[in-house]
Amino acid sequence: MEEKRDYYEILGLEKGAEKKDIKKAYRKLAMQYHPDVSDDPESADKFKEISEAYAVLSDDEKRNTYDQYGHAGMGGFSQEDIFNNINFEDIFRGFGFGGSSGGAGGFESIFDLFGFGGGRRNGPVQGDDIAYHLDITLEDAAEGLEKDIEVSHKKTCTHCNGSKAEPGTESRVCSQCGGSGQVRQVSNTPLGQFATIRPCSTCHGEGKIIDTPCNECHGKGIVKQKSTIHIKIPPGVDNGSRLRIPGEGDIGERGGPPGDLYILIKVKKHPLFIRDGSDLIYEMPISFVQASLGDTVEAPTLNGAVDLKIPSGTQSGTSFRIKGQGLPHMRWTGKGNLYVKVKVVTPKKLNTKQKELLREFADASGEEIYIEDKGFFDKMKDAIGH
Ligand SMILES: [Zn+2]
Ligand SMILES: [Zn+2]
Repeated sequence: MEEKRDYYEILGLEKGAEKKDIKKAYRKLAMQYHPDVSDDPESADKFKEISEAYAVLSDDEKRNTYDQYGHAGMGGFSQEDIFNNINFEDIFRGFGFGGSSGGAGGFESIFDLFGFGGGRRNGPVQGDDIAYHLDITLEDAAEGLEKDIEVSHKKTCTHCNGSKAEPGTESRVCSQCGGSGQVRQVSNTPLGQFATIRPCSTCHGEGKIIDTPCNECHGKGIVKQKSTIHIKIPPGVDNGSRLRIPGEGDIGERGGPPGDLYILIKVKKHPLFIRDGSDLIYEMPISFVQASLGDTVEAPTLNGAVDLKIPSGTQSGTSFRIKGQGLPHMRWTGKGNLYVKVKVVTPKKLNTKQKELLREFADASGEEIYIEDKGFFDKMKDAIGH
C-alpha cells in the first residue's frame, strides 16, 4: 500500500496553520479538482484526498488526534465519521455547483464519490428495475403479439396507502428533528459557523414515529404484489431482445420515481426454420431425380406453403430465395427473405427395378461401374461353397 501523504502537505499548509487558512486552501484546491470541473482523470482521487485532509484538519478533535498520532491515530474514525463535518454546501456556495440549494449535480456526485450516500439518506430513491422472461415462438416473433403478463413488483401498500401506519392509528411527528428527518448541528467557532446536516437517528430520516406499524407491509409502506400488465411485442423481435416498460418496476422510495420493467425475450427454436437476422433458412431434401430433371415443389413458409421451382441440374446445397418470407426488420420497413437450401438425398435402399434402371442410366452415360448383384450373405455362401 502506498504511504498516506501528510494532511498538511496535501493542502500545502504548515503544521499549526490557522483554521481560516485551512478552509481557504481547501476551497482553492477543491475548485481545481472538483470532478465536475476538472478533466484530469485523477481528479476524483485528488478531490477525495484533499477533502479528507480538510475534513480532519477543520475539526478540532480530529485535528488534535492527527497532530498527536498521525495517520495511525485516525483508525478510530470511520470514513463517514471523518467526512461528517464537511459542509459542502458552505464550501461551494456561490460557485455554481453543489450550491446552497443542493440541486446541482455537484452535490450528489460528491457523495457518490465518497460512496457512503451521506446527505442523500433521506432523499428520494428510484425503484429497482425488474426483469420478466418471456418465451415466444418464431411465428409470434414474426407477427408480434399482445398479451397479459403477471409480474411481481413492489408497490405502495394499499392497506396503509403508503403511510406505514396501521389505518386508524396516528403517527407522531418526530420530536428530535421536528419532522424534517434531518438534524443540523451548528458549531460556533471564532471563524464562523460550521454546520453539519445528518439524518435524524430517532426517526431514521423519516420525520415521523410510527407506534403501530401497518399489518400488511410491517411498516414499510411498500409491499410486493402481483400485477397484470398488458404488453405489446412488436413484430421482428429476436432472441435476446429487451422490451422496456417504463415505470412498471419497483416503486421508488420517499417519492423517487419507479424503476422500469424489462421484458427479456427468448425466441424458441423452430422445427423447420433457422433464423439469421431477419432472414430464414429452410433446408429441403430433394431426390436426385428432382435435382436432375427439375421439379416444382412446395416450400413451407411462416404463412403456409408456396410453390418453388427447382430447375433441372440443381446441385446439392443450392439456395433459392423466396422474397419477403422472412421476418420484419426492426429498424426499417420491409421483411427479410426465406432461403430454401436444397439437399440432394441419395436413396439408401433400391428395389430390383430401380437398380436395373440405374444400371441402364449408367450405361447410357457411358459410365463403367462395378455393381454388386448379390448381397453379403450370398457372397459368403458362394465362398464357402454351399
Ligand atoms: Zn402498509
Ligand atoms: Zn427525527
